[in-house]
Amino acid sequence: MDSSQAPYNWNQTMFPIIQGGIYPELRKNSVEEMVPYSTCGIGIGGLAVGEDKMAMFENIAMLDELLPEDQPRYLMGVGRPTDLVRAVQNGMDMFDCVLPTRNGRNGQLFTSQGVINIQNSRYLDDFSCVDKECNCHLCNDYTKAYLRHLFNINEMLGLRLASMHNITYYMLLMETIRKKINEGEFSKWSVNYLNKYSNDQRM
Ligand SMILES: [Zn+2]
Repeated sequence: MDSSQAPYNWNQTMFPIIQGGIYPELRKNSVEEMVPYSTCGIGIGGLAVGEDKMAMFENIAMLDELLPEDQPRYLMGVGRPTDLVRAVQNGMDMFDCVLPTRNGRNGQLFTSQGVINIQNSRYLDDFSCVDKECNCHLCNDYTKAYLRHLFNINEMLGLRLASMHNITYYMLLMETIRKKINEGEFSKWSVNYLNKYSNDQRM
């Protein structure tokens, strides 16, 4: 298909998607078949669908060796913050995932201090902000106790604020990753980041 033909009023492009599950031979075949079609980026599908996490990262490391270096790699459906950092360590560039908003709607917030569940009773009279290092609307203008109250009375604003905060966390994480790469500090920074949250499976 000719991806230069724009059906809308803006240019579109198409990423071919590498498939093959956790089977190295199928992945290699898929790379051989698909890379000739990739002009400005390539997707990696069929991972983060319930397979063992170690198998997923072994697969990603293998693809890092096989894929062209001059095009962004889009790892589809990943993931937790530490998954993103580990995937970037293995040459991945782009991600998409429901986690920030889905977990946000369940009251689970990603913060610089790890994951917190805002519905926990310990936040009943906690009038501090969710994350001092975050600059989102929730962290600037509301307290943990107020957000917990919004969840308790099923007020939609609570779900929106939590989702906005989590998306801000992810955006800031990727911004930090880009900055560290540009400064030549990513290797060291990423090891520290992963160590910091090594005991928190939810991160
Ligand atoms: Zn925030």
